[in-house]
Amino acid sequence: MVHRRLLQLAGAVSGAILALAGLGVVLSVLHIAFALAAGSVVTAVVHGDGDLVPGLAALTGIALLRGVLIGAREPTATRVGAEVRIRLRRRLLLQLATVPVAERDSGRTAATVLDGVDGLDAYYTRYLPQLIVVLVVPAVVVALVWTRSAGAGAVLAVATAVAVLAPRVWDARLLRTGRRRWDRFTRLSSDYVEALQQIPLLRSFGATDRIAARIAADADGLRVSTMAQLRLSLVETLVSGVALHLGTVLVVFAAVAAVVSGGAGATAAMTVLLLARECFRPVQDLGTTWHAGYLGLTAVDGLERLLSGRPAVIENGAHAAPAPTGSVMVDDVTYRYPGTTTGVRGLSLRVAPGETVAVVGPSGSGKSTLARLLERDIDPDAGQVRVDGVDLRAYTRGARSRSVVVVPQDPVLFAWSVRDNLRLYRPAATDAEIEHACGLADVHDVVAALPDGYGTVLAENGEQLSGGQRQRLAIARALLSPAPVLVLDEVTSALDPDTEKRVMDAVARDSSARTVLVIAHRAGACLHADRWIALRDGRLTASGDGPPPARVLMAGSAS
Ligand code: ADP
Repeated sequence: MVHRRLLQLAGAVSGAILALAGLGVVLSVLHIAFALAAGSVVTAVVHGDGDLVPGLAALTGIALLRGVLIGAREPTATRVGAEVRIRLRRRLLLQLATVPVAERDSGRTAATVLDGVDGLDAYYTRYLPQLIVVLVVPAVVVALVWTRSAGAGAVLAVATAVAVLAPRVWDARLLRTGRRRWDRFTRLSSDYVEALQQIPLLRSFGATDRIAARIAADADGLRVSTMAQLRLSLVETLVSGVALHLGTVLVVFAAVAAVVSGGAGATAAMTVLLLARECFRPVQDLGTTWHAGYLGLTAVDGLERLLSGRPAVIENGAHAAPAPTGSVMVDDVTYRYPGTTTGVRGLSLRVAPGETVAVVGPSGSGKSTLARLLERDIDPDAGQVRVDGVDLRAYTRGARSRSVVVVPQDPVLFAWSVRDNLRLYRPAATDAEIEHACGLADVHDVVAALPDGYGTVLAENGEQLSGGQRQRLAIARALLSPAPVLVLDEVTSALDPDTEKRVMDAVARDSSARTVLVIAHRAGACLHADRWIALRDGRLTASGDGPPPARVLMAGSAS
């Protein structure tokens, strides 16, 4: 079955697919040549005339060449397959990087990127080339047989057509059940990933047995739908197999009838039988490759969903120089989350280079949305966000990340060494610089106490560290960045008041030249603010000089 979308996706590798198909055609031609040569050798033996040596030499030569080409096909297919997988995965990952986090589902995505793409490898490197062979070779063989026995040629043509076309009756159903199965499979992957990531939490809820039972039921559903699909697929194989076997018998009958009626000689009949085999061989191989490549076909929906995800921002900025001083200008910005009325409305804010501004307000008032706008994780629906006079949309991605750094409340740490995690914004940071930054963020002693110090490879998302330690590592990572604008989004929420004060004092000292926006609920995080602004329902409702007064903070944390 040829799928339009999968053909489009093949785009870049279509040359390799055609090359593999070409190799398949050449192999079939060698099979046919072998059959013809064998036929002429038999003829020579039967008639007792001529020299057999050239015929036998030709047979040997063809067999050897065939062996070499078969040997070459496998590594070529494997290499092309690896290329297909790499290209597709790179494309999917690049796409994933642009899609908003909320629209990703790790389990389903992993199943599509891993299993789906593996399935496509077989579809592109086995099934499609073989399909091209089937479109070319049987027609040629039928023509060759026809010249020897019209009856046998006709039988061969009908049997091949039935073997290729009859299973197509089930294609639509097979694709439907396949998609259903794929959907169950990805849902199961998603449940597994979620359950595995949250085992401690599920245990604390006493919910592990319930979740295990639910996953077992899902797995059973997958088994049922896999079996249904297998049954359908076996019917297809059976129909095709019957057509081929019956076809062979009928070709024998037709060839014998031609000999009996004097329409063909015995040796011509022999050649016809050998050729019939070569007509059916590619069709049989197509059946085998179909089963290998089928998984890719069923994954098409998942691929489509990933590839059609709307990027949150379009990266086409050309301003490659990072902002030098870090003045921030938020100009009448409105942003609504898709399908909601929530976000921020008519927000305006000017922050001079080196200034520290505290952003306070109740939960849901739009503080993190402001941080996301400053990071250009999202673009305003109306208005502009500018840093040093340049619209954030005009910066290249690299220049932007060297202009503005946002530290979120729940920072992500990778399962890399502590050192590599800290070097994310500045890959060339020296060990001394890293240790200095960790000292400022009050986390050096924590890292030094790890088994391998800064070389310790963290567990997934730094699970061996406490929330507060992770926050401090993220602050240290941000301090290593050369960006002149630093946005701290409740980064000290998990710290005790003393540590919070130490960290914020150090950040203020180190970032005196930076523009800092501190999103916070507590006074301890805003002590160094030159000004404050308060948000409510996505709007700026109050502002003032110095750190935010207690009543403003109280109003923020009350709701
Ligand atoms: P804060 O950081 O002040 O707690 P947010 O900026 O996170 O507030 O949220 C502002 C508003 O936008 C809230 O009403 C919140 O429910 C909504 N919101 C935040 N993120 C999303 C999202 N991804 N999709 C839809 N609505 C969102």
